[in-house]
Amino acid sequence: MPYGFSFDLSEISKSFFRELARVAQERKLHKKIGVRARNLAEKFRLQEITGLDVPNALQLVEDLVDVHMQNISERERFVKTKKRALFLPHCARKHMDSRCQAEFNSELPSYKCAHCSSDCLINQATTLGESKGYDVYTLPGGSCIPEILKKNRYEGVVGVSCSQELKLGGEYLKQISLAAQAVPLLKNGCAKTTFNIENLEKIL
Ligand code: SF4
Ligand code: SF4
Repeated sequence: MPYGFSFDLSEISKSFFRELARVAQERKLHKKIGVRARNLAEKFRLQEITGLDVPNALQLVEDLVDVHMQNISERERFVKTKKRALFLPHCARKHMDSRCQAEFNSELPSYKCAHCSSDCLINQATTLGESKGYDVYTLPGGSCIPEILKKNRYEGVVGVSCSQELKLGGEYLKQISLAAQAVPLLKNGCAKTTFNIENLEKIL
């Protein structure tokens, strides 16, 4: 399910993400996230840079902290896994029309990147994931995940998507007890979205 608002964090300073991670670490100790989220949003001028209003900026920061916290608490279990899948969002493809040469597999509802454009994030992430031994799926939506996991037994999963979808997907993976890690999108909007490929590499 997409957010009811658009965001673009690609112009936000890197130290914002470092602080997010620190807040997520601290939140394990105490739960005053509302105040911390407001401080972060103000310190990094989130509203000014992204144009988000206060409630949406705070929701975004809180969701990002939740994703980090989830990564921290699952990391130890995840690093022990061997057979892994990488789920990428179809909205980060360079083209979302017939210029994208990816093949859609209706059995395992997902696209397989055909590497038609070197500057496509999905191309780069697919190559990276496969080089590290992951089965890579580009998904039209999070609802495809149960179908894929029914047909393939994975021990660990890495997902890239907007933080709201990550939270929903994370709840499902927790129910089936699969170790997971997540990379949130820097820009949402369901088309021409972006994520940080270096962040993905670290997580993988
Ligand atoms: S590189 Fe892959 S995902 Fe990107 S547009 Fe081409 S086929 Fe589609
Ligand atoms: S931004 Fe991408 S990952 Fe998020 S809901 Fe839209 S299509 Fe799905």
